[in-house]
Amino acid sequence: MRRDPQEVKAALATLDRQHLRRIRRTVERYSESGNRTGVIVDDRPLIDFCGNDYLGLAHHPKLAEAMTAAAVREGTGSGAAHLITGHGLEHARLEESLAIYTGRERVLLFSTGYMANLAVITALAGRGERVLLDRLSHASLIDATRLSGASFKRYPHNDAGAVAAALQNHADVATVVATDGVFSMDGDLAPLPALATACRAHAAWLVVDDAHGLGVVGPTGRGTLEHHGLSSDDVPLLVGTLGKAFGCFGAFAAGDADLIELLMQKSRSYIYTTALPQPVAAAARMALELADRESWRRERVLALTTRFRRGTAELGLSLMDSQTPIQPLIIGSAEAVLQAHEKLLAAGFWVAAIRPPTVPPDTARLRITLSAAHTDAQVDALIEALGEIRPSISPVSTQGLLPDLSLCGRKG
Ligand code: PMP
Repeated sequence: MRRDPQEVKAALATLDRQHLRRIRRTVERYSESGNRTGVIVDDRPLIDFCGNDYLGLAHHPKLAEAMTAAAVREGTGSGAAHLITGHGLEHARLEESLAIYTGRERVLLFSTGYMANLAVITALAGRGERVLLDRLSHASLIDATRLSGASFKRYPHNDAGAVAAALQNHADVATVVATDGVFSMDGDLAPLPALATACRAHAAWLVVDDAHGLGVVGPTGRGTLEHHGLSSDDVPLLVGTLGKAFGCFGAFAAGDADLIELLMQKSRSYIYTTALPQPVAAAARMALELADRESWRRERVLALTTRFRRGTAELGLSLMDSQTPIQPLIIGSAEAVLQAHEKLLAAGFWVAAIRPPTVPPDTARLRITLSAAHTDAQVDALIEALGEIRPSISPVSTQGLLPDLSLCGRKG
């Protein structure tokens, strides 16, 4: 683009014409039905059905207490990068807790999941090497691959056969296969056992970004690896985030000690940035503890997921085949999904309208997410509102199966 204000205006006008301009709204939390699922937007009280606070931990008083105490003790900011003087006791403790939680030798903290993915992919792949990514992988994995300089192929969604074939065809090229564990805009799980088998057979790295699985999926909430019974030999590098089910902020990579040491040595998104504030690390450590101690949270969000799917199925609404708290309703065009979003706003619900390029063309969707903090009545009210706007949203048909919650499991 040239340095010309008219060109900037024209670029914005194009987004408007395509119904692709993103709108940012300032939200203020309020207590609704005794929980913190209420948001006030433009003076309107709404119930939030689009966050990733799956376990309802973001407003847990113990997290706020841990954060406050650490802020008083260690300060609000880390003051430097980890490899200078920014690495504090709270970081070290959180890394240890996460290593135990994930069953890995070592963990490296990052400020965000985006940065963790940049680090992992660029450390493992470079020029002359190759990265295979699921078509629906998170944007940060795609950007990481571009940055790495490796060649880049996106395989059809969840097609482990295509991965095996690609590995077979270029057996001599060092390859990283990367996938989300739970797909953020679809809610389905990656076929990790088949991917692990293919990667092991061809000595390829398998990286799993389990941002949406950790805390929620698996018999004790350890994520999609636990759900599938996979070890660190199956999935050498696991990326997790702390801003979703754990209600905080930040991210980590977990793996064998040498691999994590290499990440620390090589990752520019680790080395050249200020360390995560220690109060955030302290809150995240408390969140890990509570995710285990208050296992009812996981059971609750899964029960609400079932309730939501039953209710929408009774209305004839066809959701995507997701077993997780991410329950997308595909609408189709960007224009139609914006209309549906506005109608839900008028009915008192905040549900995100997800449009291209976040999702493929013609699959714009309402991304509805559930939290352990929601009440039955709130979920029922959303179902009713979807029923009322249904004639005007005419969603695209999907498989609409009831979830098999045995997959997400319960602590037994
Ligand atoms: N991976 C996935 C699958 C995600 O959904 C997200 C966040 N939307 C990220 C990585 C990035 O995590 P963070 O928000 O901590 O940067």
